Amino acid sequence: MQRITILGATGSIGVSTLDVIARHPDRYSVYALTAHSRVEELAAQCIQFHPARAVVGSAAAADQLGALLRAAGCKTEVEWGEAALCSVSCASGTDAVMAAIVGAAGLAPTLAAARAGKKVMLANKEALVMSGQLFMDAVAGSGAALLPIDSEHNAIFQCLPAGYGRVPAAAGVTKILLTASGGPFLKRDVATLENVTPDEACKHPKWVMGRKISVDSATMMNKGLEVIEAHWLFGAPAQQIEVVIHPQSVIHSMVSYNDGSVLAELGNPDMRTPIAHALAYPERVASGVAQLDLTQVGTLQFEKPDFERFPCLALAYQALRAGGTAPALLNAANEVAVQAFLEQRIGFRRIDRVIAQVMDELPHGAASSIEAVMAQDALARAAAERIIAG
Ligand code: NDP
Ligand code: MG
Repeated sequence: MQRITILGATGSIGVSTLDVIARHPDRYSVYALTAHSRVEELAAQCIQFHPARAVVGSAAAADQLGALLRAAGCKTEVEWGEAALCSVSCASGTDAVMAAIVGAAGLAPTLAAARAGKKVMLANKEALVMSGQLFMDAVAGSGAALLPIDSEHNAIFQCLPAGYGRVPAAAGVTKILLTASGGPFLKRDVATLENVTPDEACKHPKWVMGRKISVDSATMMNKGLEVIEAHWLFGAPAQQIEVVIHPQSVIHSMVSYNDGSVLAELGNPDMRTPIAHALAYPERVASGVAQLDLTQVGTLQFEKPDFERFPCLALAYQALRAGGTAPALLNAANEVAVQAFLEQRIGFRRIDRVIAQVMDELPHGAASSIEAVMAQDALARAAAERIIAG
């Protein structure tokens, strides 16, 4: 029986994870569930899955959750705050942690799980983008198992030689081909992008996801963050990672080899597939996802990304090449700009300009410690807020 902690249980990935777990009560039990402010959703999950512990973002939310659980006779212990998130991630009562908090808020508990040698199922790409070397060192130091949830990285993991989490020097890997749907604005007239609404940007053609990652998909910053994520997860340099637009989202990514072979993982676009893969690895379990029918799909298309239409993709490659804390600056500026766009304080086309200005203004340093990374994160957030306000 694998005992699971889900960080970000009320989000899109969290709900899909519980869906897969519910199909296999003989294999998985829930140790802890966490949310930030969606207390009623978390209460319903606790009543269904009976975790030992639940964590929310504030004392007020904890009071509210406690009252809902008592009324239902549910014995889950309620806690709140970052220390509690870290505690449920490294507790002896949990074997595996689904890291599915969105953004930099997920870094500390995800790192706590890695340091404690847990099986870490990583959806929270922002944590790895911010602190890649430190995070991978923590994983290597503790012997934690790291399994990618992001569909592209999960596909790459599956296409690498069995048993390798990373690109082995002798394996003959020539390229990692990260597929991208291109998001909702792949073919839209660039001149009209300034006026798109948050709802239009969040209407992804293929995937149902949280609002932040949906906007990242519309700007293609999501793919940029994924290039950086692939660099750290698989130990591949920037020039070995290529983005390919594939609007059908049926191929989730590919690995090409020096003998001319290109291996791909295909499936319907549903996150329960990579979640089930990571939960059961190296075995397989049913995920509830319908089998792919290629005769129904009919055509698979591919094209090169347009870096002028999607400047965020170029900014991410630039940050990866610059190294050090540059990806943390990029990530923080992006989080602030996306939030401002979702709150309709800036237009869509200002997202990339805010990030570029933050990257220009702030010198990046060495990512020598989590404190150094968090200090740069705070500076970038303040700079982005000032640029947006000005
Ligand atoms: P959602 O916005 O749907 O969910 C985010 C979760 O994190 C919620 O449970 C939320 O709680 C919690 N949360 C938000 N802010 C905080 C905070 N400050 N402190 C603690 N918890 C917080 O996001 P997704 O599920 O879409 O994405 C989660 C992560 O997975 C992201 O890093 C994303 O990039 C990655 N990912 C997602 C994919 C997808 O298909 N959705 C695909 C690949 C990667 P509450 O509900 O209470 O607000
Ligand atoms: Mg992805």
